[in-house]
Amino acid sequence: MPFLRLDGIGKIYVSEGAISVGIRGVSLEFERGEFVAVTGKSGSGKSTLLNAISGIDTYEEGELYVEGEPTSHYRQPEWEKYREKYISFIFQDYNIIDSFTVLQNVELALMHIDSKRERRRRALELIDRVGLTKQKGQKGSMLSGGQKQRTVIARALAKDSPMILADEPCGNLDSETSRQIIELLYEVSRDKLLIMVTHNAEEVEGYATRHIRVFDGRIESDVRSEQRNITEPINAIEGEDNATRVAVSRENDNKSGFARGLGRVTSALKKGLSLGLAIFTSKPRLTSFLCMLSVIASLGMTVMASSTSEAIAEMLKRPTMFAPIDGRLVLSRRDGEAMSEEELASLAKKYGAESHLRYDFLLEAKGEQNDILDVLGDYYYEENTLTLYTEKGYTDIDATFRYDEDYGRVTGRYPEEIGEALLRLPISYLSGSSEEELLDSYLTYGAAPLKVVGLSFYADNNIPPTCLLSKEGYIQLALLSRIPQYNSYLQFYIYDGQSTTVTSMSDFGIEWGRSGIAILDKTLKAALDNRSQDATVSGLFTAEKYSYYGGVTSYMIELDGDDLYDGADVHPAYGLRYFEPSFIIGSETLIEAVEQSYGASYNQGSLFFSSDKEAEEAIAGLKAEGYSCILSTYKYSPDAMSTLTALISGAVMTAALALTVIFLAFFIYVCSLKALSATASEVAIMRSMGIPSSVIRIGMYARMALCFVPGALAALGVGALVGLVPAVNKLFSYLYLWQYLPVLVCIFAISAIVTSRQMAKIFNQSVKTTLRGGDKA
Ligand code: ADP
Ligand code: MG
Repeated sequence: MPFLRLDGIGKIYVSEGAISVGIRGVSLEFERGEFVAVTGKSGSGKSTLLNAISGIDTYEEGELYVEGEPTSHYRQPEWEKYREKYISFIFQDYNIIDSFTVLQNVELALMHIDSKRERRRRALELIDRVGLTKQKGQKGSMLSGGQKQRTVIARALAKDSPMILADEPCGNLDSETSRQIIELLYEVSRDKLLIMVTHNAEEVEGYATRHIRVFDGRIESDVRSEQRNITEPINAIEGEDNATRVAVSRENDNKSGFARGLGRVTSALKKGLSLGLAIFTSKPRLTSFLCMLSVIASLGMTVMASSTSEAIAEMLKRPTMFAPIDGRLVLSRRDGEAMSEEELASLAKKYGAESHLRYDFLLEAKGEQNDILDVLGDYYYEENTLTLYTEKGYTDIDATFRYDEDYGRVTGRYPEEIGEALLRLPISYLSGSSEEELLDSYLTYGAAPLKVVGLSFYADNNIPPTCLLSKEGYIQLALLSRIPQYNSYLQFYIYDGQSTTVTSMSDFGIEWGRSGIAILDKTLKAALDNRSQDATVSGLFTAEKYSYYGGVTSYMIELDGDDLYDGADVHPAYGLRYFEPSFIIGSETLIEAVEQSYGASYNQGSLFFSSDKEAEEAIAGLKAEGYSCILSTYKYSPDAMSTLTALISGAVMTAALALTVIFLAFFIYVCSLKALSATASEVAIMRSMGIPSSVIRIGMYARMALCFVPGALAALGVGALVGLVPAVNKLFSYLYLWQYLPVLVCIFAISAIVTSRQMAKIFNQSVKTTLRGGDKA
């Protein structure tokens, strides 16, 4: 049985509709130990013949037998195995991996050895054998043609396969170098089948044992000269290699099937990873481009997500400093002293205000559903806009109210009194103000100015700030917040120290709006006087008691227990906060509480004029008297139009965010594809060398993954900064470790998909096709 037998092999090329014959009806037999020279004119089919024998390209007709086994049914995976076992191929244009060093190129061919150390040792010996020890660390691209071909021969030797196929190995070399190369080939192939295509029959004279001439795709002549003496393997290393292989296979035989399988997988994994690392480091420019890309992509996605969501939130926010009432002028003493009822009354008189309100923060009480219903024992789950005043100005904070909560160590202390608060904030707040400044600040939430006595910080911007109050403070806040502002109902909250009664009346016929509290009082009094049924109501601004008869609906709100929702259905028109509030009524107890808490320190009040225009005329004079003034309508514009605009811009921003993410994903896709195409020929070369496809695939995946490691690190880095540095924390509302995960997974997934598709494509092609630059079809 001949070692290799070709039986009527034919290869036809079809390109752009034209058919050309590569070889036809070639029947030949080869044995080990032969040195076969193949000559013929250019285009006669020499390369086609060699490619068919090596499985680097396919053949269409006939049958190729290797050691008696037919191969015509082989598909790419079988050809891979075939090449791994039998073939060392030497190309005219070398096909060494230019970005790898000589040592790496040779080590690649030693992949069948599991020990990395052993691979290194053998590679160095082989390099020494072909005389390249000095150049071992040089990259392929820096070598001369002769040196490249020597590298290839070292590679062929490393593989120690039974066939060496060389396609014009000296075609690009000068005659002296050619002679050296042929001598080297001759020497290393003594026990192997060496088939060498050459255009120059003379240069192999004295070496070749057989001379085949090809003409027009057919064998023209086949002449044998004297046989070579097949001596013992010329190469001491080879004996050792066989010994190693035997030892390894024996060791494997002793293991169970599973252990062997596992061993194979881990070994492929290890090799693949080190290959991936080699590819990663061997192309510094491409690699750094990809690394940069990964950083841009991962940061880009998160920053974009962060800034957009913040911008949307910002847009949808409505200014909430004061309850806006046309004609309401809010003033405070610039010296910080408390303002007295008398003082405010005299100012009202002097400037022609229709009425005044001392504890005007009550106007800021929210009439929103949850504020009203979610009383005591429960928290204000809704975020409420608090205004934090520091020396530098004020900021709005959307916070949730709590009490009885333990935040562990805090700066300052926990709130103890009514009117004290502990703020728990993302650390970004420290980039605007210091802890001292924040501790020196006060908060207004609608109804209650709160002094900040304690602080606690955390990193996650997604958790809303909390405002921790003392239990008493919380109760008071809950009560104050339930002061309603309706436009068609009148409602009384009567708090007797234990429970609150809600009494509501409709069709009151009161003049709403800017007429203010005093007028309201009069009207209310008149209205109430006309009723017949008893009900006790305390007006906040009239110490009088009113009697009320008829048409009253009463609801009990229990303070402890779950019956708080009773009466909820009569609460009309929630969310009318932005309409003009009409009146304020509280119980005596509440008034006392307010007086007690703020009477000595509250330095603000409101004057009510018939319109903002009139109120404005008073500003100059009041300022001159040492008051700070502001119109309650100032900066306030949540009309339907601007809300609509905000919603539309929100939608646009969201779309922009989606597009950006899609664009970045596409960008990653394209760049990954480019990077992979840039290494397609390396993959082909490795395949031509018979490196197992699993190792190559793992290597390529590892290489892509490595490229995205900097992106992941950058993400983690910023994540860490967000947690530690207030200024960075302020920049991103979105960058928290777990939030990076989807972005990173997304990036890795995209590059993994691209890699797997590209690998599938390359591995379905013949090596030759990839080296030619891929199939157009
Ligand atoms: P040689 O190596 O002897 O110069 P080849 O084997 O490369 O010849 O080519 C043999 C014939 O096949 C030539 O006519 C050539 O034009 C044709 N051929 C080779 N490769 C291709 C190809 N990829 N597509 C189309 N025709 C090809
Ligand atoms: Mg050729």
